[in-house]
Amino acid sequence: MSEKKTLTIALAGNPNSGKTTIFNNITGTRQKVGNWPGVTVEKKEGLINKFGYELKIVDLPGTYSLTPFSIEEIVARNFVLEESPDVIIDIIDSSNLERSLYLATQLREIDSKVLFALNMADLASSHGTKIDAEKLSNLLDVPVVFTVGNKNEGMDILLKEAIKLAESSPDKSENRNVKYSRDIENAITKIQGLIERKAKDRINYKTRWTAIKLLEDDKIVKERFVEKAGAAGEEILEETGVLRKYLLNAFDEDPEIVMTDDRYGFIAGIIKEVQTITVKQRVDVSRNIDLVLTNRFIGFPIFIFFIWAMFQLTFTLGAYPMDWIESGVSLISSYAGSIVPESLFKDLLINGIIGGVGSVIVFLPNILILFFCIALLEDTGYMARAAFIMDKIMHLIGLHGKSFIPMLMGFGCNVPAIMATRTLESEKDRILTILITPFMSCSAKLPVYIVLAGTFFAAKAGNVIFSLYLLGIILSIISGRLFRSTLLKGIDAPFVMELPPYRVPMLRSLMIHMWDRSKMFLKRMGGVILVGSVIVWSLSAFPRNVDYSADYSAEMDRANESFNIKIAAADEKGKELLKNERIVAIAEIEKAMNAVKTEKSYMGRIGKGVSPVFEPLGIDWRGSVSLLTGFFAKEIVVSTLGVLYSTEGPGDKDALKNALRSSGMTPLSALSMMVFVLLYLPCLATIAMIRKETASFKWTAFSIIYSTSVAWIASFCVFQGGKLLGFS
Ligand code: GDP
Ligand code: MG
Repeated sequence: MSEKKTLTIALAGNPNSGKTTIFNNITGTRQKVGNWPGVTVEKKEGLINKFGYELKIVDLPGTYSLTPFSIEEIVARNFVLEESPDVIIDIIDSSNLERSLYLATQLREIDSKVLFALNMADLASSHGTKIDAEKLSNLLDVPVVFTVGNKNEGMDILLKEAIKLAESSPDKSENRNVKYSRDIENAITKIQGLIERKAKDRINYKTRWTAIKLLEDDKIVKERFVEKAGAAGEEILEETGVLRKYLLNAFDEDPEIVMTDDRYGFIAGIIKEVQTITVKQRVDVSRNIDLVLTNRFIGFPIFIFFIWAMFQLTFTLGAYPMDWIESGVSLISSYAGSIVPESLFKDLLINGIIGGVGSVIVFLPNILILFFCIALLEDTGYMARAAFIMDKIMHLIGLHGKSFIPMLMGFGCNVPAIMATRTLESEKDRILTILITPFMSCSAKLPVYIVLAGTFFAAKAGNVIFSLYLLGIILSIISGRLFRSTLLKGIDAPFVMELPPYRVPMLRSLMIHMWDRSKMFLKRMGGVILVGSVIVWSLSAFPRNVDYSADYSAEMDRANESFNIKIAAADEKGKELLKNERIVAIAEIEKAMNAVKTEKSYMGRIGKGVSPVFEPLGIDWRGSVSLLTGFFAKEIVVSTLGVLYSTEGPGDKDALKNALRSSGMTPLSALSMMVFVLLYLPCLATIAMIRKETASFKWTAFSIIYSTSVAWIASFCVFQGGKLLGFS
């Protein structure tokens, strides 16, 4: 019996170098997605068996360096240092060798086993760039493999080389690393000597690397160093301080800046050696496309058009499968109705579970389409341009264009939108974006608008719904400015917007991106909706023995009897008519009975309890209950209204409309209710996501309280203001 040997292979590289593509190629669908311990940066891991080994592949966050400035860099560096993966594959963007090599030299310096994947080789050569891999490999003493991530080329060779490297004896080729200026090298040697004499056995990193980091004044390394080496550590740090001062005098520049320059010098040297650019450079296609798409005048209209087209596609194309699923759900429901005997369980199954989950599952096509479009925008490289175009407008809120992407996704669903804030570097920007994203009206709120606006505004429904979306956007801008100048003060640090080259998207990668997000949506919503529906159902179904004020069964008997007498006396034609009349009359009584039942149910009692809060907004107890249940998911507002108005379940929209009209609800109170739905607390799944991404109860609670207060105030203004102006 041979135990398989496990090797850990980490993928490092710049953002957009093709890391995730290669990760997906290697691991297929066998991957685990989570967060790095303690921070909200995506962690992907996959386990595969290949070439007789068990390989654990880890996708490190994309970084340009290992200088711990951003969370991503700290996470990547910690992993390399603390978990000591057997091999690190550095995915290099061959069409951007200089920038990629900066990270590469830093990885080499740590002295882990590094292997280069020269990815995007196709792009490089189409730009007329040729890279001499053998020379690169010799110069840096690193195995080099060419790959084309999006065509799945070179993966097996890459893994084979990685295994070979892992099994090789540790290399000692320090001389293949960056050589710094003489003064710096002298300082490094001095510190290294000190460490070796006084603290060698107490630190677990390589001494040269430690010396370099101390000289660079790396806070994290310094802290750990003192922790481990104690008094000797303090002493060495003091010594380092003296050296730093000396270097600062000599160069008139912080040593770390000189060292960065040295690294770039080293890289420039390598590039001269290994890269040749043919004279007849191809026309830069991306730049030409950008001349149009990011044009100062037509860039914005084109962008608006794309967004419009995306929503059109989402809702028009999505309507077809939505219909199919809707009829599927009602088929299942009537089938279940026909085989399950009349009981409490039947009621739970049909009205609680199938009705509740069914009302959400119908949105799956819309969500899939929306996420497909977003993946398309991302993979082609257009999303970065959208951020660029929106940058100016976003600065009104004190945010960068990058924050626009999560907000845009918020129109689909806030859960993935809040997850998308991970791409923002600054913690404050991230929290600010998370706080204002829920004002983007998500697709789950649309059914509520459709029912209410459709009922009370008829032909003007479209305009009303559009205004609601607009109101959400305006309030998010106002809130953003407010937070920026109070709770989340800060300057928007200047940064360069990355504009990666346009690429033809790959269907496979589009599908993976789309599914990654939809899966999350389904999983979270599925669980929450199921529980929510059952709770809503239970609250409306219990208590069972209602004390009716009138004797409905006696009333029904009486109606039956009087019709029977009339029917007996009538002729053939009259009999048929009367029979139909009898059905209607009985249904009327049943409806009245159900209304009383609901009113006396727990849900009715809760509604009556909270209704004083909603009264100034023109929302009655039924509306209040629906709003409460909307906490589980916004679509539930509609199905709860259905239950409360004792119509035939969520599918029967006309009955609901009639019931709403005769309930005393007015266009003004309907508008007030829609405004409330637009703005009030995010649904349970979103709240869970906010908690996860901010890692703070404080901000989560703040988000809930803030949005609900804004909702109440806005609805109050709408309703009371409208009344003052004479609307009803
Ligand atoms: P990451 O940010 O490093 O994870 O990069 P991704 O894996 O998301 O890749 C960014 C884009 O580059 C995607 O659209 C890929 O399809 C594309 N891509 C990946 N590898 C290659 C390659 O070798 N050649 C070309 N032309 N495109 C690639
Ligand atoms: Mg990636």
